Amino acid sequence: MEETTGFAAFKLNKQLFSAIQDLGWETPTPIQEKAIPLALEGHDVLGIAQTGTGKTAAYLLPLLMRLKYAQTDFPRALIIAPTRELVMQIAEHFKRLSAYTDLRCTALYGGIGMKAQVDAVKAGTDVIIATPGRFMDVYRTGELVLKELKCFILDEADKLMDMGFMPQIRKLLEIIPRKRQNLLFSATMPDKVVRLSEEFLEAPIRVEIAPQATAAQTVAQQLYFVPNLKTKVNLLGHLLADETQITRAIIFCRTKENAENIGKFISRKITPFVRIIHANKGQNTRINAMQAFKEGGVRILVATDVAARGIDVSEVSHVINFDVPIIYEDYVHRIGRTGRAGEEGIAITFCTEAEVYHIEKIQKLIRQTIPVMELPAEVKIEPTGFEEQQAMAREIDRQKRRENPDFQGAFHEKKNKPTQRKPGSKSKPVGKSKSTAKGTGNSKTFSRRRK
Ligand code: AMP
Repeated sequence: MEETTGFAAFKLNKQLFSAIQDLGWETPTPIQEKAIPLALEGHDVLGIAQTGTGKTAAYLLPLLMRLKYAQTDFPRALIIAPTRELVMQIAEHFKRLSAYTDLRCTALYGGIGMKAQVDAVKAGTDVIIATPGRFMDVYRTGELVLKELKCFILDEADKLMDMGFMPQIRKLLEIIPRKRQNLLFSATMPDKVVRLSEEFLEAPIRVEIAPQATAAQTVAQQLYFVPNLKTKVNLLGHLLADETQITRAIIFCRTKENAENIGKFISRKITPFVRIIHANKGQNTRINAMQAFKEGGVRILVATDVAARGIDVSEVSHVINFDVPIIYEDYVHRIGRTGRAGEEGIAITFCTEAEVYHIEKIQKLIRQTIPVMELPAEVKIEPTGFEEQQAMAREIDRQKRRENPDFQGAFHEKKNKPTQRKPGSKSKPVGKSKSTAKGTGNSKTFSRRRK
């Protein structure tokens, strides 16, 4: 096939090639183009690439090519990443790319009991994907045999450094075999990462791609301020009703629950030609859904970010962010699904008051201000339920505290009657917010202005 010449040039084995085809990837991304041949030749590689650039496959493909099939029961590669979410994402990537091999991977991360993870290691594995802390914990049980380890990969090294994992990584470097291939990926190259790379990479070759934080020029972005979930649903219904405009749309939701509920709402009220994909859907269901969407039999795809990775469908007329993504690069990633290959696309984002914080960060990242649209008159504005209001107020407090640890919290303060306040405690939250619980914490318009 003509489109696959890019991947064919790497001379990957048939198993990997089939997996790539199943994923619908047609050409390698720039970082893959640069890093894969070097890693395949056995070099140490220092890759500077952000999330969303295809960096995971840039190191997984050469790794899978090298490991080929399950061998001894001891791990032959170790991938370290800063967060549980990233570890899970890498493991997901691994599973898809290794679908036609018998290679096993074991994910080790905190937040859950260690026993199942230790058992998985004992049962035999080829690749360990882990956060540094949990990796060391499992190592200390004595069940992790590292003598077969031949490849060591650090993903998101800058984040690992920021999170203070240097001591664990130093320890880890002491316990893994010296003779091995090393790959280090990082979105940025601060001094800390340069020093780290000097510590363990051997004559690395540096590959770099331009940061991806620029949203595609062919995408028109729109922002709607919406007071609550129910009104978001009304707005979505209103927009989707116009089939002539929204010919093919992906709707992104932050959670599986939202994706499920929105998908059901659409199939009940708007069109039966809708599919839902999220991490709880089986792989076949997801692949079939994407295929149907790709072929045009399905007009609307409702997806979570994790599930949507790998969707490569051209001619998506609209991307609708039902929720504002909290991983800001995901915004660029999501809206990049439309406006592909010179086509015009529209990316619409729904934003509640509790999400303003994130949209502002996103605007900083993309260095653009997203034009704000007025809610159409036909969209019914629902009252915000008590629980949702409380949840939003709590979330806004959390955001303020993140920005300013001294912030006392409008929400909690509201609950504490003045008589309960300790002597000497501040009577007003730091910052100029009034009652966030009432939704007056900032100047955005969350309901339609009546003329
Ligand atoms: P990453 O930067 O590794 O998080 O990958 C970003 C997204 O791009 C993931 O959803 C991958 O599944 C997808 N991806 C990676 N390589 C390719 C490719 N060559 N073509 C299309 N999508 C890709």
